[in-house]
Amino acid sequence: MLAFIIFGTRGIRSTIKQGAFYCPQCQSEKNYKHKKVTQFFTLYFIPLIPLGNKGEYVECQTCRNTYIERVLDIAPVLDITPKKAVASSTTEEQIERFGGQSAQMGIASESAAQTSTPAASQSTPAASSDTSLIDQVKQLAEAEAALVAAQEKVAAEKAEAEKPVDILSEKQKAIKKVLIMMILADGKVEDSEISMFHKVYRDVADSVVPDIYKEIEEVRVENKAPRQYLKQVSAYLNEEGKKDIIKAAMMIAASDGDIDPSEVRMVENFGKALELRTLEVREIIESIKV
Ligand SMILES: [Zn+2]
Repeated sequence: MLAFIIFGTRGIRSTIKQGAFYCPQCQSEKNYKHKKVTQFFTLYFIPLIPLGNKGEYVECQTCRNTYIERVLDIAPVLDITPKKAVASSTTEEQIERFGGQSAQMGIASESAAQTSTPAASQSTPAASSDTSLIDQVKQLAEAEAALVAAQEKVAAEKAEAEKPVDILSEKQKAIKKVLIMMILADGKVEDSEISMFHKVYRDVADSVVPDIYKEIEEVRVENKAPRQYLKQVSAYLNEEGKKDIIKAAMMIAASDGDIDPSEVRMVENFGKALELRTLEVREIIESIKV
């Protein structure tokens, strides 16, 4: 009889803090959990001895994206939002005021126009009535110009408040990098690979890369192996994020029309680097059919 002692290490996640934050992916205030990943020595897959802190991340409880802790620093954006809302409501009040004013003046000039006809026979009052009418028309035009300006200001403030905060989730960063590493694997970058990248990145990471060639150049210069990279980022990802990386890698592998065994092995190795269970990785691989 053979007896195996199965031991290893595994990152165990625990929540150290929770609250509300601005999620860049949801683009609104959502609940988050701040998680800490502790590396454990495992015996027969049971975590026994904590070996130290491996990483931390902030997880959105709605979209499940994970972010580096710094995402909480953009929380002041949330504090600014009500201020901006106040600012725009002031402008809205201004519009109301101007609008009200021009409406009043509209009535005033209308009544002035009505009274001006009988007054035309009397030279002096008619002249003064005409002057006041011109003044009122001028004022009305000014008020309308101010109204347009105020409306434009509100639109600009609204656009500014709605501008997404430029921060990627760890999953998005990792998918982008791994896919580029796969594109670079054969040493050449083909147009079909680029278009496939955009499709997979949009489908799985729910985002877009504006300048793919710049990103490719960065990855090329860095010259890191995907497994080594994934081992590093594993502590900043949750289960969903890891599975999405495997899914995206598999979609790229399948994009040329066939999946050969070496590609399957490569993706399985990605799964190992991410500390995913072999069965889970197999399921994702199976789900991607050519
Ligand atoms: Zn979210």
